[in-house]
Amino acid sequence: MQRTSKLPNVGTTIFTVMSALANEHGAINLSQGFPNFPSPERLSDLVCQYMKKGYNQYAPMAGVQSLRERLAEKAEQLYRAKVDPDSEITITAGATQAIFTAITAFIRPGDEVILIEPAYDSYLPSVLVNGGTPAPYRLSAPDYRVDWDELGQMVTPRTRMIIINTPHNPTGTVLKTEDLKALEKLTAGTDILVLSDEVYEHLIYDGREHQSVLRYPGLWERSLATYSFGKTFHNTGWKVGYCLAPAHLMAEFRKVHQFNVFTVNTPVQYALADYLADPETYLSLNDFFQQKRDFFLEVMQGSHLRPLRCEGTYFYLFDYSAISGEPDTEFAKRMTTEWGVAAIPVSVFYSNGSSDKVIRLCFAKTEETLERAGALLRSM
Ligand code: PMP
Ligand code: GLN
Repeated sequence: MQRTSKLPNVGTTIFTVMSALANEHGAINLSQGFPNFPSPERLSDLVCQYMKKGYNQYAPMAGVQSLRERLAEKAEQLYRAKVDPDSEITITAGATQAIFTAITAFIRPGDEVILIEPAYDSYLPSVLVNGGTPAPYRLSAPDYRVDWDELGQMVTPRTRMIIINTPHNPTGTVLKTEDLKALEKLTAGTDILVLSDEVYEHLIYDGREHQSVLRYPGLWERSLATYSFGKTFHNTGWKVGYCLAPAHLMAEFRKVHQFNVFTVNTPVQYALADYLADPETYLSLNDFFQQKRDFFLEVMQGSHLRPLRCEGTYFYLFDYSAISGEPDTEFAKRMTTEWGVAAIPVSVFYSNGSSDKVIRLCFAKTEETLERAGALLRSM
């Protein structure tokens, strides 16, 4: 049988590769982004209660009504945006599915999609498998800031979408008001869509405010914004997230969503609706993770890994050039096998694979784990 791959250059995602290597070598896994502490007990209790009460059949295609209503309230309180729970919110199987569905709903063969690299690893294959042409805009260490005039020069008549991500995985940078305004200006009067990946909206530090596209009417009218409860409530394995978009875009999104997953986990959706009633459940996360970030920096003092900066997310980038000149994929493997701490090489987030000698470490871990990891990393 003759068969050509639709994704000939795509291998297994780095998160699977590094977590498997960490397990194989018994290394502390600071590679794939997930917490090693439990999801809130009250939330798990609510899920169990809804399961036992019989909420176990298909939820409505767009998601449970009460959850969508809570999310509309949250968008209004946090970002002063009016989002209609009936026509502008869809609950998804994590942000990954929301991103894939958004791209599939709008990208046709030949459409260009501007990606800001280093970019989360699902964006590029999602564009490619739909026949789109990725147009990578490269950010560099140590600042990883977007020059919007430069990015604007990449726009062509075929540009259909620009993907942004704030707070940004893997760099830990956060877009500011000026960034969003520049993007608003750049796209004004065009039919370019914005896919805004905001899964780390509640992990933002030092008093910064999350700049959601929802705050900017000129952006919101052309945006699909994606979110992840897994990131917010420490349960990445539940795979529940959502997408917000104006009705005219959400209608197209749902045409794909209904034949992609149709609907997602019912008892988890009911539980989340109850849990979100108290905004402290998510508003407290900035302090919680900021403390972890600061603790991690403390245990890394004296290490030859040089910290860059973390304004948001639960990732910290470190420059390893004082230790080794080898490529980051080799270095990350050796960290796992020889020093017992698994990391993500940042080159995997660039389509040309180039590297600034930087690795990413995840600090969503207990203090005990961070302390043990710090001791191993200081010995490098
Ligand atoms: N976007 C970014 C930037 C991420 O880091 C992740 C990883 N969780 C996702 C999307 C996917 O989120 P989910 O696990 O909810 O699919
Ligand atoms: N978002 C997580 C990370 O960046 C992992 C998600 C995944 O494993 N696909 O590490």
